[in-house]
Amino acid sequence: MENRDQQMDVIDRSKQNTEEGKQELYLYSLRKMAEDNVEKNKSPLTRLQNLRSFFFSGGEIIRQHPTEKYALIAMDIAQFKAVNEFCGRDAGDALLATIAGVFREIDAERPLTISSHARADVFALLTTYEEEQELVDIVHRIKKVIDDFPIDCKVLPAFGIATSQGEMPAISYLKDCATTALNTIKGKFYACYAFFDEKMRKQQMLEKQIENNIVTALQNREFALYIQPKVDMATGRIVGGEALVRWVDPDHGVISPGEFLPVLEKNGFVIDLDIHMWEQVFKMQSALLAQGRQPVPVSVNVSRVHAFDRNFCDTLCRLSEQYQVDPAYVPLELTESAFLGDEQGMYRQLEILQSKGFIASMDDFGTGYSSMNMLKNQAMDEVKVDQTFIRDLETNEKSRIVIRHTIRMLQELETDIIVEGVETEEQKKFLLECGCKEAQGYLFYRPMPWQDFVALL
Ligand code: C2E
Ligand code: MG
Ligand code: MG
Repeated sequence: MENRDQQMDVIDRSKQNTEEGKQELYLYSLRKMAEDNVEKNKSPLTRLQNLRSFFFSGGEIIRQHPTEKYALIAMDIAQFKAVNEFCGRDAGDALLATIAGVFREIDAERPLTISSHARADVFALLTTYEEEQELVDIVHRIKKVIDDFPIDCKVLPAFGIATSQGEMPAISYLKDCATTALNTIKGKFYACYAFFDEKMRKQQMLEKQIENNIVTALQNREFALYIQPKVDMATGRIVGGEALVRWVDPDHGVISPGEFLPVLEKNGFVIDLDIHMWEQVFKMQSALLAQGRQPVPVSVNVSRVHAFDRNFCDTLCRLSEQYQVDPAYVPLELTESAFLGDEQGMYRQLEILQSKGFIASMDDFGTGYSSMNMLKNQAMDEVKVDQTFIRDLETNEKSRIVIRHTIRMLQELETDIIVEGVETEEQKKFLLECGCKEAQGYLFYRPMPWQDFVALL
């Protein structure tokens, strides 16, 4: 330890705070560790290098042969814990040792190749290659060894492959990319490997960008209020609307919620975004009322993350008072997943909101697994039947039976019904025949900027 400290001193202290200096220090410590702890840097079970020393040695290979094409293959086994639990730890260890064996073989056969046992059931291989097929062959070779291993549980490995396109890649970046690719197929029976591709790179960049820019985007009002009209199918009259968020990014144009909401749900910012959206709707309704016009209800979406927000109720009541808008003009759309965290707590909050005049609408009905129970237990004022429910009604007789009886059941429960995603005349005709009156879908209107919606009214 003392020795290492002394050697560290050799590095020019003036450099330590610069980026270059930090990088040098980092490489230095990795190199030291690799040299000093050859044994410590190996997995005791498989004798393969751990990730840190793999990064170091792999980085050195790339540095010394910068013009080669490199690929990093990462492997992970879905539910490996279950293998240990059901087949015993010894069998699990034996399997890992066998997998390490084939990695070691490939490592020995191929030039400029190095393998690692990163942790538990995660392995990685850095290699040079000419054709992508070589990499697919490596994957199949490892998979075959796993498939042939005598064990009483299903072992499902997933492989992610990231390739450098000629430029000198950072090995940790390659590993990240391979892991991203791997995660797209982990646990899926139909695919055992995935290449990191341009789409994933874009998604990865977008996620990073969202994380970095979300606060400014909220301040800069880059989240725009779009509204999709709800119509009375028989007359075509607009009976309401749904507020839908659009991110109008100066660089990327209009981005749909499907792309950025999952990131916001992860970091909790979806709460701020929702409140921003709700406020815009209250503001719009308030302006219409002030002009003496009769607004239609415009529903807002409520992320399931609000189930964990103590201020959920208060915020909505405050907005209603502040803008002097009757809550009936701003119905709340919740999905069943909002009730998964703290079910009783969410019911209580909803009851309070309903007692104040808010309308509760169950969004995406028919996609979850607890829909029926929710209908029994909770007085939802409205049910929004999900678009996947009606997608195939023209071609599937069974689908028509399910829809017909679902609508019938909802009518008996005296819940209001609206169907989402109506795209064709046939769907409209069938739904009308079933006694369903209201719908929302591209057949009538697409989501539009709120100003256009107001103009339509
Ligand atoms: P949702 O609440 O179920 O909204 C309906 C979605 O279906 C919207 O997608 C809408 O554009 C789309 N849609 C409507 N009619 C049709 C049709 O005929 N065909 C097809 N294919 N699609 C149709 P969008 O705007 O991309 O929103 C997706 C989801 O994102 C929403 O599903 C909602 O769950 C969520 N979301 C949107 N805005 C917000 C928001 O402000 N806050 C929260 N928490 N979630 C939001
Ligand atoms: Mg909705
Ligand atoms: Mg929906």
